[in-house]
Amino acid sequence: MCGITGYIGNEEASPILIQTLKKLEYRGYDSAGIAVMRNGKIFVRKMKGRINSLEETLLENPLNGQSGIGHTRWATHGEPSDANSHPHTDSGGNIAIVHNGIIENYVKLKQSLQSRGVVFQSDTDTEVIVHIINYFYRSGEGALLQAVMETLKLLNGSYALAVVCSDYPDRIIAVRKDSPLIAGCGAAGSFIASDVPALLEYTRDVYFLNNGEIAVLYEDHIELRGNDGEVILRETARIDWDAGSAEKNNFPHFMLKEIFEQPKAMENALLPRLKKSALNNPVVDFDEIKLDESWAAARRIVIAACGTAYNAAVIGKYAFEHFARIPVAVDLASEYRYRNPIFDKRDIFIVISQSGETADTLAAARLMKQNGARVIAVTNAPGSTLSREADVVVYTYAGPEIAVASTKAFTSQMMCVYLLALELGRFRGHIADEPYKKYITALSAIPAQARRILDKKEIIQRFAARQYNKTKMFFMGRQFDYPVSMESALKLKEISYTHSEAFAAGELKHGPIALIDDGTLVIAFATQKELFEKMISNIREVSSRGASSLVITCDRVDSFNTITDEIFTLPKTEDCFSPLLSVIPAQLFSYYCAVQRGNDPDKPRNLAKSVTVE
Ligand code: GLU
Repeated sequence: MCGITGYIGNEEASPILIQTLKKLEYRGYDSAGIAVMRNGKIFVRKMKGRINSLEETLLENPLNGQSGIGHTRWATHGEPSDANSHPHTDSGGNIAIVHNGIIENYVKLKQSLQSRGVVFQSDTDTEVIVHIINYFYRSGEGALLQAVMETLKLLNGSYALAVVCSDYPDRIIAVRKDSPLIAGCGAAGSFIASDVPALLEYTRDVYFLNNGEIAVLYEDHIELRGNDGEVILRETARIDWDAGSAEKNNFPHFMLKEIFEQPKAMENALLPRLKKSALNNPVVDFDEIKLDESWAAARRIVIAACGTAYNAAVIGKYAFEHFARIPVAVDLASEYRYRNPIFDKRDIFIVISQSGETADTLAAARLMKQNGARVIAVTNAPGSTLSREADVVVYTYAGPEIAVASTKAFTSQMMCVYLLALELGRFRGHIADEPYKKYITALSAIPAQARRILDKKEIIQRFAARQYNKTKMFFMGRQFDYPVSMESALKLKEISYTHSEAFAAGELKHGPIALIDDGTLVIAFATQKELFEKMISNIREVSSRGASSLVITCDRVDSFNTITDEIFTLPKTEDCFSPLLSVIPAQLFSYYCAVQRGNDPDKPRNLAKSVTVE
């Protein structure tokens, strides 16, 4: 959440800072600000509200200079206000910082600074950092870098931090711990940012800073240092994302663009893992994972994740149990570490996170590792903390996901877990050759089938235009349709702010039916053929109580026709793979409801893209 940028080079800094901040807008923020250095002075402009407003004041009243730092804030301590916006400066205005994260021990630090006469300008936890740096700097701890390093020793919590000092106009110091930060050097100069899309226009060669690492940016190079100041020599990583993938192209919103990118994203997850067998049949084969004795002997799979990735994990449970006949325990990563989880060295541990920076998921992975587990990470983000800490990384290859509400990350995560489940099922001898071939053929057809669904988006658009102002919307399904219902309800609440819930359709009579009345919309997934009759009964039950409904199905349209307001028909696939397709109309429904309600689907209120705080 929130974004940090920094630039030092041969061009004007403020337009670059504004441009790079805009590329981080998707992360969520409530205020924005920049500090620019010129002629041995630091100039700050910051305010509550949108980057556009900041940009306007800069157009009217520019800040010139060729180095500076920028910030979009997502308030954790102190309300969103001009004063609480970053950058923060020391009392003399000589040092300025931007910070992403939380300083847990700031109260004690603040009291100690106040007792030394420091006057605070904001209610943030962040402000202590700049005063402590100034304290060490002034009290003769030597150079700025030394003062920053001394300061870090006192901080508990998480930070991505950038520091400028008017005595050092030739450099910016940046450091991270548990909040993401990358640094890169291009033709125009050196840059830092919280995420790759901000830098694509300027450079593709970046350092993903490790925890505790410091980057000192100069106009023409970047120096990496460890937390004791020792110089680190490391090659940059090359980012091969195409710059357009972080642009909206002709779509009105990133979310819609990403929904439409799903056929490609699923192909990207699938194709590198489909190989030809000796008999020339396609087989799933992960280069990243060598199936060995430990996989044959595995007793259980444990998967931890948050939000949408958790819903993909639940699909994983159904898929692993179905194909590989191995029990699966799925946990919310935010719960996992607070109960007393059981570790067995025969278990297989998987974590799923789009960004690879989700604080709770990282903590779950670390706990697994501390207990001797080998952790497999499914993530979309090369260079992310999770990708570096996990023992095995399965990349989803979905490309940058900018919209806060995850869509293509979800379908590509599902594709990866299906493939893993198939490979494991075959390895453990639970899938015979013929069904295996049939499954591979079905998965290979999914991207084209997804395109056909997207071609029918108007059906959902019209339906949303009729239903968007319902105050209660429920999703229900059975078996593989249940986790899809969970994801659909999450999507809807995230961007349309409608109260929505998912339930396993069999649970209807155990409670939710009490909520059904003529102000309710129920979206029912009916893709599991053996359960059609049961779903027909459930839909009758809600229709007869006055609810409106939409049925998303792949068959038996005649049976649903008379009992529902709308039917969306999916292309036919294996029942177990239907989530890869059925979630798409539900994503479209959430998107169009949000647009109808006048919300910006790319920037849902109170939400941030990667939840890097607990
Ligand atoms: N904790 C800091 C604040 O509330 C930084 C928040 C952020 O990451 O944007 O100002």
